[in-house]
Amino acid sequence: MQPLMCSIRAAVCGYCSGVKQAVNAVDAQLRAHPRGAVYTMGPLIHNPQVLSDLAERGVQMLSESALPKDLSGAVVVIRAHGISPQLKAALEARHAEIVDATCPKVRANQKKAQQLTQEGYKIFLAGEQNHGEIKALKGYAPGCIVVPDPKQARKAGARLAQEEPDAATVLLGQTTISPAEYQDIAGALIPYFPDIWRVDTICPATQQRQEAVRALCATVDAVIVIGGRESANTHRLVVLAHDAGKPAWLVESVADIPSALAGYTRVGIGAGASTPDELIATIEKHIQAL
Ligand code: SF4
Repeated sequence: MQPLMCSIRAAVCGYCSGVKQAVNAVDAQLRAHPRGAVYTMGPLIHNPQVLSDLAERGVQMLSESALPKDLSGAVVVIRAHGISPQLKAALEARHAEIVDATCPKVRANQKKAQQLTQEGYKIFLAGEQNHGEIKALKGYAPGCIVVPDPKQARKAGARLAQEEPDAATVLLGQTTISPAEYQDIAGALIPYFPDIWRVDTICPATQQRQEAVRALCATVDAVIVIGGRESANTHRLVVLAHDAGKPAWLVESVADIPSALAGYTRVGIGAGASTPDELIATIEKHIQAL
């Protein structure tokens, strides 16, 4: 007999390699220092269940604006987004032991930004002004200009073209920016700097999760996306499913599973890059029992 409802997982969903590495780094430190002080620099990932689990296991979160005066004996794990060299120096000055779990792809971007700044390039950074990755990257490229969207890119391009018409310019992006957004921002700068060098900094992890949800939409009646409300890439997956014409919900925990799901025969499941496998499995089980 045909089941009343079946759920189908997106081909790619959940933790990306950078997030997995950061979570594993904290686990390793907790095992190595069962009674020691283990901190993360800011929230390790955008997932409330993982953060509360870490807090229960004794992990404390540091805030850049309120660093303790002395971190002797403390281990501070740097999250996948990385930190600026200035913040790293501040932690070292407080005698913290730093465990750097910056994602290798983010690290490569930081090195590129540093090298290009030293070579005299004027850097435009496509990304969100207050995103942790951009905040860290800015520290490697003093004088860079953050351009969150094409409108601001046009303004910034016009200003720089007036002040330094012969500037050698380069565009770098947040690793999670969409190729279309990156292209639009580049297009807004080109009238002012036709030779602007566009460096490919986009990480395929976000794209892969989006393509997987897009493919899923072709085979299901409704979609749930599992992930934290603070996670931008999770929200984008919900929007993408809506754009594909499917009813879609963001589900952070079992309590968020919408009762309306019971009315659909085939439910697709996607998940953001900071959603743990265990949470996906738990929610999947509940859905199948609807
Ligand atoms: S999305 Fe890509 S760049 Fe960002 S942490 Fe994950 S693997 Fe690294």
